[in-house]
Amino acid sequence: MSSPTVVWLRDDLRLADNPALHAAVQRGESVVVVYLLDEVSPGIRPLGAAVKWWLHYSLSALAADLAAIGGSLVLRRGDAAAQIPRIVAETHAGAVYWNRRYGRARDIDAGLKGSLRDAGVEVQSFRANLLFEPWTVTTREGGPYGVFTPFWKTCLEIGVSRQPLEAPTSIATHAAASDDLDSWGLLPTHPDWAGGLREDNRPGEHNAHERLERFAEEVLANYDARDQPGVEATSGLSPHLRFGELSPLQIWHRMTGAIDASSRVNAASFLRELGWREFNYSTLYNFPELHERNYRPAFDAFPWADTPEWEIDAWRQGRTGVPLVDAGMRELWTTGSMHNRVRMVTASFLIKNLLVDWRVGEAWFWDTLVDADEANNPANWQWVAGSGADAAPYFRVFNPVLQAKKFDPHGRYIRRWVPELEAAEYPPEPIVDLAQSRRDALQAYETMKASGQTAD
Ligand SMILES: Cc1cc2nc3c(=O)[nH]c(=O)nc-3n(C[C@H](O)[C@H](O)[C@H](O)COP(=O)(O)OP(=O)(O)OC[C@H]3O[C@@H](n4cnc5c(N)ncnc54)[C@H](O)[C@@H]3O)c2cc1C
Repeated sequence: MSSPTVVWLRDDLRLADNPALHAAVQRGESVVVVYLLDEVSPGIRPLGAAVKWWLHYSLSALAADLAAIGGSLVLRRGDAAAQIPRIVAETHAGAVYWNRRYGRARDIDAGLKGSLRDAGVEVQSFRANLLFEPWTVTTREGGPYGVFTPFWKTCLEIGVSRQPLEAPTSIATHAAASDDLDSWGLLPTHPDWAGGLREDNRPGEHNAHERLERFAEEVLANYDARDQPGVEATSGLSPHLRFGELSPLQIWHRMTGAIDASSRVNAASFLRELGWREFNYSTLYNFPELHERNYRPAFDAFPWADTPEWEIDAWRQGRTGVPLVDAGMRELWTTGSMHNRVRMVTASFLIKNLLVDWRVGEAWFWDTLVDADEANNPANWQWVAGSGADAAPYFRVFNPVLQAKKFDPHGRYIRRWVPELEAAEYPPEPIVDLAQSRRDALQAYETMKASGQTAD
């Protein structure tokens, strides 16, 4: 009797360089390729709206890619601890394979690994979505790194050995009941706010590779302009990485392979950014409460202000009267993305000029970014707040006016998102006094330090 292999896909929605899928095909039995929408298991953080939008199209692209090689995708919904064993029982599967994840959901995977094995099912997990497993990059004392530079240096010393795996050219999938994707309601209906997202984003594995190629061939040479939001200088790969439509290993090999000699330095800078992604996942692995708690406990005593809701709404809606902040927040709302430099400036404005707890901003980005992910979003918010691992010092407060002068010198980015500036219809004053609120922020920091613990 046959004993199919269940491949349980999570944030790895690709056919190429997918070790769990590859091993399942190698096993030689038919394969049940499952995506489970789990919003209910303990420790699962419900997805934000923009990410759900992307997920819908990513899953439909994956289903089409599987159909093209003779297979099909099974969609199920519910808590993993009940649903995965149910699928195993329905299909009489003999093995379950998945690619590892690194946040709190690891507990679910560990529980299932134990219970399935007890029931005589073979279970294997694989490294797919990071270049380096967090537990393999350790200090001399064997602990995790709290500082990025030595972390990345150690990664580079370990090196990357494996070649990316090819996508299967055919697959024999095992039939199983599946939900209809539309019934999940991942797309917005009333109101349909996704017009800008549709214009700017192209989910799916093929589009991810097209983007990587275009970046390598046409944009990488410009990567040293990556801090300028008005210039196309970065890869735009973050949502593709978020959903695992391509792997960091594929990017690594593209960047160390056929690259123009003059772009080598830029390729190394770009890979260093991927290194931050690795570092943030390592931090998440060691500190799964990353979006809920200060990584540095000294910040638990930070005296956040009782900022009125209308000021926070002005920030969310891009109506603060600070052009670079408003431009960024409008870009985010319209496209589901925001340039990295502007993410830092808008986050700093909320945390330091409005004295609002970073978790409020993190939650807004979580809901509105198409690349919102459980490591990079909270880690970067904590970086700006000063409460994170290897964070910017709290007392370094971004001045959004000087930032605009330096990084958007011709106003190209600001004019695109805040056109009323030209017509002089823009508020003459920001909602807060930038100089006074900066002094208040530094005072609040001193209060925290004086409360008994040191910030470091
Ligand atoms: C407040 C704030 C919130 C953020 N939230 C997220 C998030 O939810 N998801 C997310 O992927 N990135 C987040 N970032 C990091 C960064 O802004 C984006 O990764 C980047 O803008 C994506 O654009 P790109 O792919 O063109 O970047 P590129 O410059 O082309 O970089 C290549 C890849 O490296 C990684 N990377 C780059 N910068 C960082 C960084 N600072 N930290 C971690 N990884 C990085 C991303 O995977 C990115 O796709 C956040 C930054 C800030 C300041």
